[in-house]
Amino acid sequence: MPSRLPVRPEFAEAEPYGAPVAPVPVRLNVNENPYPVPPEVVSAIAAAASKLNRYPDRDFLTLRGALAEYLGREADAPWLTANHIWAANGSNEVLLHVFQAFAGPGRSALSFAPTYSMYPELARDTFTRWTTVPRRADFALDMDAALDAIAREHPSVILVASPNNPTGTAVHLADIEALAKATGGAQATAVIVVDEAYAEFRRAGSPSAVELVAEYPHVAVARTMSKAFAFAGARLGYLAARPELVEILRVVRLPYHLSALTQAAALAALTHADALLANVAALRDGRDELVEALRARTNPTTGRRLEVADTDANFAYFGVFHDRRAVWRGLFDRGVLVREVGPDGWLRVSAGTPGENAAFLTALDAILATLEVQP
Ligand SMILES: *Cc1c(COP(=O)(O)O)cnc(C)c1O
Repeated sequence: MPSRLPVRPEFAEAEPYGAPVAPVPVRLNVNENPYPVPPEVVSAIAAAASKLNRYPDRDFLTLRGALAEYLGREADAPWLTANHIWAANGSNEVLLHVFQAFAGPGRSALSFAPTYSMYPELARDTFTRWTTVPRRADFALDMDAALDAIAREHPSVILVASPNNPTGTAVHLADIEALAKATGGAQATAVIVVDEAYAEFRRAGSPSAVELVAEYPHVAVARTMSKAFAFAGARLGYLAARPELVEILRVVRLPYHLSALTQAAALAALTHADALLANVAALRDGRDELVEALRARTNPTTGRRLEVADTDANFAYFGVFHDRRAVWRGLFDRGVLVREVGPDGWLRVSAGTPGENAAFLTALDAILATLEVQP
């Protein structure tokens, strides 16, 4: 129904973003970490509540220092300091700051499809033209097409999710560096954001792009505490870049955008990082077992094994189903929620607890048995 309000045309037909929420027993649809927050972190957050009469630290330097210290350790980048770090309410808000500062009306943003479905919404909300380059069949970047698109579109923001959502694909560091070279120099033409929301789940040998930050003033790496840290409810995302880039993001943030509770919660979580990250190795193993189990299964409709994309994240992307809706629905009816997202035929399942993963596979087997067999 057309709105009776003077809404901008960009928003007139739009729906609010979000995966369907349903109270089913096994929720494997939004890539959360299934384990609860340790009690020592809960008490540290409660202690911060007594200071809520005052505005919080606007520049949250203590938290930025702690994030720099953590990321320096995680990504082998000990040179990171508080001045290299920006943070906001989830990395989605960090990305919004990047769009506000570097994109906007008359400018364009570029990414590589299929990818994170929030990116086009951030472009829409900042009146930025949105363009994508298709990935290859194995979901790697098509570098010839990428460099052509940069030459043609002159994007001012380039988003590279690595590991990518929904496919799980890690992008080669050499490909990111080639994008940086194509847009760098004395006057950079684009800011490149490598979105490493799932970086802690990457397999041995998959590097982080943080090392490129030291060399390229227009490369930023976004991270989040929502996934590996099991801290999605706290809403804390952050970004590492050269201080010159961080200073520009400070201009567009709302004053006091990070509440005292958020800052205290994130600091407590970083102090207890080892406890919060304790389950990452188990989730990584669970992910690898899921991939193997899926690849061992046959799709009766094609007579071939299921396809599963190589994944460095805490989820697996699998298919290709003739009717993915029916498979999604069948899983839902058996109490398992997965995500119907990206190219037709594919589904995404998050790695959960061993019990959740087993429940998913049991439900999937029941559905595969009902699929039509190719004559
Ligand atoms: C989950 C996710 C995010 C993080 O979102 P938050 O706002 O930090 O919770 C960012 N990028 C990608 C690709 C994601 O999948």
